[in-house]
Amino acid sequence: MKLAIIGGGIVGSSAAFYASQHPEDDVTLFDDETGQATRAAAGIISPWLSQRRNKNWYNLAKSGAALYPSMINELSKVTETTCYRQVGTLLFKKNQALLDKLINLATERKQEAPEIGDIALLSPEQIKEKMPLLTPHSSALFVSGGARVDGRLLIEQLQAGFIAQNGTLIKQRITSLTPCDNGYRLNLTDGSTQTFDKVIVATGAWLPELIGPLGFEVDVRGQKGQLAHFQTKQNTTNWPVVMPQGESDIIPFDNGSLLIGATHENDQNYDLTVDNQVVAEMVESIYPLAPSIENETISEVRVGTRAYTSDFLPFFGEIPELPGLLVASGLGSSGLTTGPIIAKTLIDWLYGEVSVLQPENYTTSPYIFKK
Ligand SMILES: Cc1cc2nc3c(=O)[nH]c(=O)nc-3n(C[C@H](O)[C@H](O)[C@H](O)COP(=O)(O)OP(=O)(O)OC[C@H]3O[C@@H](n4cnc5c(N)ncnc54)[C@H](O)[C@@H]3O)c2cc1C
Repeated sequence: MKLAIIGGGIVGSSAAFYASQHPEDDVTLFDDETGQATRAAAGIISPWLSQRRNKNWYNLAKSGAALYPSMINELSKVTETTCYRQVGTLLFKKNQALLDKLINLATERKQEAPEIGDIALLSPEQIKEKMPLLTPHSSALFVSGGARVDGRLLIEQLQAGFIAQNGTLIKQRITSLTPCDNGYRLNLTDGSTQTFDKVIVATGAWLPELIGPLGFEVDVRGQKGQLAHFQTKQNTTNWPVVMPQGESDIIPFDNGSLLIGATHENDQNYDLTVDNQVVAEMVESIYPLAPSIENETISEVRVGTRAYTSDFLPFFGEIPELPGLLVASGLGSSGLTTGPIIAKTLIDWLYGEVSVLQPENYTTSPYIFKK
């Protein structure tokens, strides 16, 4: 099989890595890196404390978190992996009653998701011991299975693993794709053309650009997200991810690196410019819990575009009218968690292998329809 994967974010890069484990096939990944959500992402992998009610979404996110250790293990056999660490998640709530409710939910969910790890209520003193950056005035819930992944590093390492397994990476945009006798013809920005038997379109928020011209309405829109990076002198490597009340989280990485974010700017769609005022407000919202952040300087602001559907649910699979053409999009604000399991499910489907997810729960038809 000659397989093309368009889009090298988390979905496309994981799909490329898994597909290249089939050495009999010829796999090419195309990516132009514009506005990529994955590179801008905060990197929180901790879905079990979410109060979203949709069961299919939770099942997807739970399975996504569970897949990470094995995917990183497989990747480590062919390349370096420094992108992922299970450091635990600390979650704050407005009052003790809400925390108690969440502890019950986590305990119940642990029965089907043992990867959640230990569940504990920590006092302000215990929190301070775990994370000296914080000055907490209340208790918080801690789950030890929570992880953080550096989206930039992850896709670099997945792509390195893909190349090590003989995959071909082409850093170019696909300007259009058309069905042809034996599959699909792809037009590249340099004017050249390539033909493939099967195609996976993993272009995130840009899915409508490629599928729309084939006569389809695509229910996907872009949402701007900004995130602030701090390079501190603190020993951050084993600090947990912190989810305070409100929109902004604190995500520590190795060697003093700290992210604060992110914004969810619906009215800004595909805009990729830094808005200093919005970023300042986001960082200030953290001061009550982490006052010393005020003394640190932002070293970089990351801006990315999330893909959303009207009902905020992701979808993936084959478009029935276009046999051999698979898509995935609408991963929203949890795509770092769900991206690898979506990619693996698509590759399992292509190779006729059994998957842990039921693809019929995530079909494209509510989101992609003939005009
Ligand atoms: C600020 C921010 C914070 C986030 N935090 C988290 C988090 O903490 N936890 C979590 O689980 N998720 C988080 N997310 C969500 C997550 O990052 C996304 O849902 C996920 O990365 C989407 O992956 P994707 O592969 O679908 O799309 P993308 O990462 O956007 O990748 C799509 C790629 O396709 C390329 N492309 C598009 N069109 C073409 C074309 N025609 N030809 C070639 N290439 C093309 C683009 O350039 C891009 O590189 C966050 C997102 C943002 C923006």
